[in-house]
Amino acid sequence: MKKAFVFLFLSCTIACSVTKNINSKMTFANNPVIAHRGAFKQNNFPENSIASLQQAIKLECTGSEFDVWMTADDSLVIHHDPDYNNMEIEKTKFSELGKIPLSNGESLPSLHDYLLAGKTGNKATRLVLEIKPSRISKVRGRLVADKTVQLVNQLNVANLVVYISFDYDILKRIHEIEPKAITQYLNGDIAPAVLKADGINGADYHFSVFQKNPGWISEARENNVQLNAWTVNDSADMRWLLDSGFNFITTNEPEMLLKILKQRN
Ligand code: MG
Repeated sequence: MKKAFVFLFLSCTIACSVTKNINSKMTFANNPVIAHRGAFKQNNFPENSIASLQQAIKLECTGSEFDVWMTADDSLVIHHDPDYNNMEIEKTKFSELGKIPLSNGESLPSLHDYLLAGKTGNKATRLVLEIKPSRISKVRGRLVADKTVQLVNQLNVANLVVYISFDYDILKRIHEIEPKAITQYLNGDIAPAVLKADGINGADYHFSVFQKNPGWISEARENNVQLNAWTVNDSADMRWLLDSGFNFITTNEPEMLLKILKQRN
């Protein structure tokens, strides 16, 4: 009887903890700091490397940003520029690209490996996933969106991911196939009320866009559209955005912004 009770108790504990892991909502760090291409700079890591992602997680930034392209053989990889070592990513196979490591010896990360690394030991950091507009076609951009969402769901990291893009149609596609996904638009040419009407959750614009259109800050708040600004590396600009109540500030200097926040508290 006692054995049966212990067995039942253990089974329930294991089952409950698994359920909790699958369904639990992450409590993200209570700061607005998004490390742009990971926290790469201070440790001289390559941008968009797994090392820079892990450093952002270690710093407990509320987010770590990275860029996604699709190779010629439909693999999703992490890199900023359209070219990697003079090879155009969209026109080169993943196996060819992968022959040359990053400057720290890491392999060029696949999105699969990057998301797995972003899940490991992560208690507070959003994965801010930028889908680069395809230079081949809009149709291909849409395919990249579909494949990215599919992989995010398959790896069970949807609760961590924020999708960003300069391509409005990519974000609208994500909203269509995954209405609960969080999306933010990067190009700075659409008013917050229009984003809201299209189901886009955030305005993630160059900070100068908000300086030129200060009314968009209040318009975003009135419409419950998240405010994010890039790429903010100067302390005066950081302070202005903090005073303006931005939800997120995307920076190459996450340590500096975290220090400013600490001084203000
Ligand atoms: Mg980016």
